[in-house]
Amino acid sequence: MRFTPTELTPAELGLQAEVRDFLATELPKGSYEPALGMGANHNKEFSKKLAAKGWVGMALPQRYGGHDRSAVDRFIVVEELLRSGAPIGYHWVADRQTGSVINKFGTEEQRERFLPTIAKGEIGFSIGMSEPDSGSDLASVSMRATRTDGGWILNGNKIWTSSAHENDYFICLCRTAPIEDGSKHQGLSQMLIDLQTEGLQINGIPFLDGAPGFNEVVMTDVFVPDENVLGEVGMGWVQNTSELAYERGGPDRWLSTFGVVEQFLATNRDTPMGDRAAEALGSMVARYWGLRNMSLTVARMIDDGAAPSVESALVKEMGTRFEQDTLLKLIQLVDLEPSPEAASLFERMFTAATLTGPSFTIRGGTIEILRSVASKGLRS
Ligand SMILES: Cc1cc2nc3c(=O)[nH]c(=O)nc-3n(C[C@H](O)[C@H](O)[C@H](O)COP(=O)(O)OP(=O)(O)OC[C@H]3O[C@@H](n4cnc5c(N)ncnc54)[C@H](O)[C@@H]3O)c2cc1C
Repeated sequence: MRFTPTELTPAELGLQAEVRDFLATELPKGSYEPALGMGANHNKEFSKKLAAKGWVGMALPQRYGGHDRSAVDRFIVVEELLRSGAPIGYHWVADRQTGSVINKFGTEEQRERFLPTIAKGEIGFSIGMSEPDSGSDLASVSMRATRTDGGWILNGNKIWTSSAHENDYFICLCRTAPIEDGSKHQGLSQMLIDLQTEGLQINGIPFLDGAPGFNEVVMTDVFVPDENVLGEVGMGWVQNTSELAYERGGPDRWLSTFGVVEQFLATNRDTPMGDRAAEALGSMVARYWGLRNMSLTVARMIDDGAAPSVESALVKEMGTRFEQDTLLKLIQLVDLEPSPEAASLFERMFTAATLTGPSFTIRGGTIEILRSVASKGLRS
């Protein structure tokens, strides 16, 4: 494993400046409630505006409405959006992973049906992987798909399905052949399912701070036509592993607490900084910069044709730990009772981060699982 140092080229810095200008016009500070990174609000109009700039589906091919841009270009756009807590929730998953997975494994008809809509920011996707008894050990999923005329009948439960109540579709990992027929990695398939389909029920599960977001998706005799089976029947494990690789290593894994620190500094602008605060902020900045450069290197490696899944796992492990450590340092610097109704933006963001921070090292693969991926990669 090697992280080769890299920097943004003048053209890439030009893109960064363009995104900053766009955000300053579209989302002037004080005109909206910034979110904690990718825990962003849904705003369909904002998603469409970004898409009109060519900043959604950037990596997708032009012939399907995409822009054939590099992973580094997408990194630049996403970094600016996350830093400002912009409302990117509606198109987030489709842009980060679903589009690329459909492009890579989908049929021609699926590419033509879904990719242009993704690139226009007009469709929201959720991730249907976890089940009540399957999280880290994802290959043990038991959502059952039974063959019927022209498609499959699905029965079972998915859980922790973020934003299923606001999105249009999800990719559901299910079992099209019983586990007894082979190893648990065989007999899995991915299906593109409309979240309004008959027999599909979405039950909200509030976060610790009371906010909506999580869901349980209960499927009872849900019919999925053959044309909605993504890629090949039985190849779900390989496809799903590839999808997970898009989820890790990006700026979303180290920027969740950026806005809280920014607001802390803004709030204390006129207060002299003591040694303790200076030491804490100095160490946060140094770690932030190191992680940012590692994550940028991952994007550069993707553009060079590599598949840096081990490096991505390491960035996610270090990045999400950094997000939590940042919060712990802030907790030591401030003396306040967290309250979602607080008058100050800093206090509201601090409260949201305190209540949702424990999830940073769980979502998208727990810290233990990522360490295991990284250490296996280092051994091989
Ligand atoms: C904010 C948030 C959003 C999420 N959104 C989605 C979503 O949209 N779609 C979706 O499908 N899922 C989603 N998830 C679920 C998430 O992917 C799982 O929570 C995660 O994979 C862990 O699975 P689990 O909760 O079943 O924990 P478990 O797998 O039961 O793990 C419990 C503990 O055991 C440890 N452990 C498990 N196996 C091993 C091992 N082999 N070696 C060492 N330690 C191990 C884990 O690290 C963890 O500490 C989300 C989770 C969160 C917190």
